[in-house]
Amino acid sequence: MIEKTLSIIKPDGVSKNLIGDIIKRIEGQGLKVKAMKMIHMSKEQAKDFYAVHDGKPFFESVTDFMSSGPCVVMILEGGDVIKKYRDLMGATNFEDAEEGTIRREFATNIEKNVVHGSDAPETAAFEIGYFFNALEIVG
Ligand code: ATP
Ligand code: MG
Repeated sequence: MIEKTLSIIKPDGVSKNLIGDIIKRIEGQGLKVKAMKMIHMSKEQAKDFYAVHDGKPFFESVTDFMSSGPCVVMILEGGDVIKKYRDLMGATNFEDAEEGTIRREFATNIEKNVVHGSDAPETAAFEIGYFFNALEIVG
Protein backbone atom coordinates (compact mmCIF):
# COMPACT_ATOMS: atom_id res chain seq x y z
CA MET A 1 0.00 0.00 0.00
CA ILE A 2 1.33 3.46 -0.93
CA GLU A 3 1.60 5.57 2.23
CA LYS A 4 3.41 8.62 3.60
CA THR A 5 5.72 9.13 6.56
CA LEU A 6 7.41 12.09 8.22
CA SER A 7 11.19 12.04 8.35
CA ILE A 8 13.41 14.41 10.30
CA ILE A 9 17.17 14.77 9.99
CA LYS A 10 17.80 15.88 13.60
CA PRO A 11 20.19 18.69 14.64
CA ASP A 12 23.11 16.26 15.10
CA GLY A 13 22.62 14.88 11.57
CA VAL A 14 22.55 18.37 10.08
CA SER A 15 25.63 19.52 12.01
CA LYS A 16 27.53 16.38 10.95
CA ASN A 17 26.81 17.19 7.25
CA LEU A 18 24.75 14.04 6.78
CA ILE A 19 21.81 15.54 4.82
CA GLY A 20 23.03 14.29 1.44
CA ASP A 21 24.04 10.86 2.71
CA ILE A 22 20.64 10.30 4.34
CA ILE A 23 18.65 11.45 1.29
CA LYS A 24 20.80 9.16 -0.87
CA ARG A 25 19.84 6.19 1.30
CA ILE A 26 16.14 7.14 1.17
CA GLU A 27 16.15 7.46 -2.62
CA GLY A 28 18.26 4.30 -2.90
CA GLN A 29 15.35 2.36 -1.38
CA GLY A 30 13.03 3.68 -4.09
CA LEU A 31 11.24 6.00 -1.65
CA LYS A 32 10.10 9.40 -2.95
CA VAL A 33 10.64 12.78 -1.28
CA LYS A 34 7.29 14.61 -1.59
CA ALA A 35 8.11 17.67 0.55
CA MET A 36 11.22 19.04 2.24
CA LYS A 37 12.35 22.08 4.22
CA MET A 38 14.82 23.19 6.86
CA ILE A 39 13.45 24.45 10.16
CA HIS A 40 14.77 25.39 13.60
CA MET A 41 12.17 24.40 16.19
CA SER A 42 11.59 26.42 19.33
CA LYS A 43 11.55 24.54 22.64
CA GLU A 44 7.73 24.85 22.66
CA GLN A 45 7.44 23.45 19.14
CA ALA A 46 9.71 20.51 20.05
CA LYS A 47 7.57 19.83 23.15
CA ASP A 48 4.39 19.81 21.04
CA PHE A 49 6.00 17.52 18.48
CA TYR A 50 7.16 15.00 21.13
CA ALA A 51 4.04 15.48 23.33
CA VAL A 52 3.53 11.68 23.47
CA HIS A 53 6.74 11.53 25.54
CA ASP A 54 5.69 14.26 28.01
CA GLY A 55 6.42 13.01 31.54
CA LYS A 56 9.15 10.57 30.53
CA PRO A 57 12.60 11.04 32.09
CA PHE A 58 14.18 12.03 28.76
CA PHE A 59 11.48 14.57 27.73
CA GLU A 60 13.28 17.77 28.82
CA SER A 61 16.57 16.66 27.37
CA VAL A 62 15.25 15.44 24.00
CA THR A 63 13.21 18.63 23.48
CA ASP A 64 16.30 20.74 24.32
CA PHE A 65 18.20 18.68 21.76
CA MET A 66 15.53 18.94 19.05
CA SER A 67 15.43 22.74 19.47
CA SER A 68 19.23 23.12 19.60
CA GLY A 69 19.73 23.66 15.86
CA PRO A 70 18.22 23.27 12.41
CA CYS A 71 16.52 20.06 11.25
CA VAL A 72 15.50 18.92 7.77
CA VAL A 73 11.89 17.72 7.69
CA MET A 74 10.64 15.63 4.79
CA ILE A 75 7.55 13.75 3.71
CA LEU A 76 8.45 10.40 2.18
CA GLU A 77 6.10 8.30 0.08
CA GLY A 78 6.21 4.71 -1.09
CA GLY A 79 4.91 1.19 -0.59
CA ASP A 80 5.21 0.27 3.11
CA VAL A 81 7.27 3.47 3.60
CA ILE A 82 6.69 3.72 7.37
CA LYS A 83 8.34 0.37 8.02
CA LYS A 84 10.93 0.70 5.23
CA TYR A 85 12.16 4.03 6.57
CA ARG A 86 12.21 2.78 10.19
CA ASP A 87 14.30 -0.17 8.96
CA LEU A 88 16.68 2.26 7.25
CA MET A 89 17.01 4.28 10.50
CA GLY A 90 17.66 1.32 12.83
CA ALA A 91 16.73 0.92 16.51
CA THR A 92 16.30 3.97 18.81
CA ASN A 93 19.44 2.97 20.72
CA PHE A 94 22.18 2.76 18.08
CA GLU A 95 23.92 -0.01 20.03
CA ASP A 96 20.91 -2.24 19.27
CA ALA A 97 20.62 -1.11 15.63
CA GLU A 98 21.47 -3.40 12.71
CA GLU A 99 24.78 -2.91 10.90
CA GLY A 100 24.43 -0.56 7.96
CA THR A 101 21.53 1.44 9.42
CA ILE A 102 21.73 5.25 9.72
CA ARG A 103 21.67 5.23 13.52
CA ARG A 104 24.21 2.42 13.81
CA GLU A 105 26.64 4.32 11.60
CA PHE A 106 26.13 7.88 12.80
CA ALA A 107 24.39 8.15 16.21
CA THR A 108 26.30 9.58 19.17
CA ASN A 109 24.06 8.08 21.90
CA ILE A 110 20.43 7.01 22.48
CA GLU A 111 19.27 10.65 22.28
CA LYS A 112 21.44 12.06 19.50
CA ASN A 113 20.34 9.43 17.01
CA VAL A 114 20.38 11.48 13.78
CA VAL A 115 16.91 10.75 12.39
CA HIS A 116 13.23 10.51 13.23
CA GLY A 117 10.54 8.51 11.43
CA SER A 118 6.82 8.20 12.15
CA ASP A 119 5.90 4.86 13.73
CA ALA A 120 2.31 4.34 12.44
CA PRO A 121 -0.17 5.79 9.91
CA GLU A 122 -1.93 7.85 12.63
CA THR A 123 1.30 9.40 13.94
CA ALA A 124 2.47 10.03 10.35
CA ALA A 125 -0.77 11.96 9.65
CA PHE A 126 -0.34 14.08 12.80
CA GLU A 127 3.36 14.75 12.19
CA ILE A 128 2.91 15.64 8.49
CA GLY A 129 0.15 18.10 9.42
CA TYR A 130 2.34 19.54 12.17
CA PHE A 131 5.06 20.64 9.73
CA PHE A 132 3.46 21.00 6.27
CA ASN A 133 0.40 22.58 4.69
CA ALA A 134 -1.24 21.30 1.50
CA LEU A 135 0.57 23.81 -0.77
CA GLU A 136 3.96 22.45 0.36
CA ILE A 137 3.23 18.83 -0.61
CA VAL A 138 3.62 17.87 -4.25
CA GLY A 139 1.27 15.53 -6.06
P1 ATP B 1 11.86 8.94 16.87
O1 ATP B 1 10.46 9.14 17.46
O2 ATP B 1 12.74 10.14 17.08
O3 ATP B 1 11.81 8.45 15.46
P2 ATP B 1 11.99 6.38 18.10
O4 ATP B 1 10.56 6.22 17.65
O5 ATP B 1 12.97 5.34 17.67
O6 ATP B 1 12.56 7.78 17.69
P3 ATP B 1 11.00 7.13 20.69
O7 ATP B 1 10.76 6.14 21.78
O8 ATP B 1 9.81 7.69 19.98
O9 ATP B 1 12.05 6.48 19.67
O10 ATP B 1 11.85 8.32 21.32
C1 ATP B 1 11.91 9.60 20.70
C2 ATP B 1 13.32 10.12 20.80
O11 ATP B 1 13.61 10.44 22.17
C3 ATP B 1 14.41 9.13 20.41
O12 ATP B 1 14.64 9.07 19.03
C4 ATP B 1 15.61 9.70 21.14
O13 ATP B 1 16.14 10.86 20.46
C5 ATP B 1 14.97 10.14 22.45
N1 ATP B 1 15.01 9.06 23.44
C6 ATP B 1 14.25 7.92 23.48
N2 ATP B 1 14.53 7.16 24.54
C7 ATP B 1 15.51 7.82 25.22
C8 ATP B 1 16.25 7.56 26.42
N3 ATP B 1 16.03 6.46 27.14
N4 ATP B 1 17.20 8.46 26.78
C9 ATP B 1 17.43 9.59 26.06
N5 ATP B 1 16.75 9.91 24.94
C10 ATP B 1 15.82 9.03 24.52
MG1 MG C 1 9.08 7.72 18.03
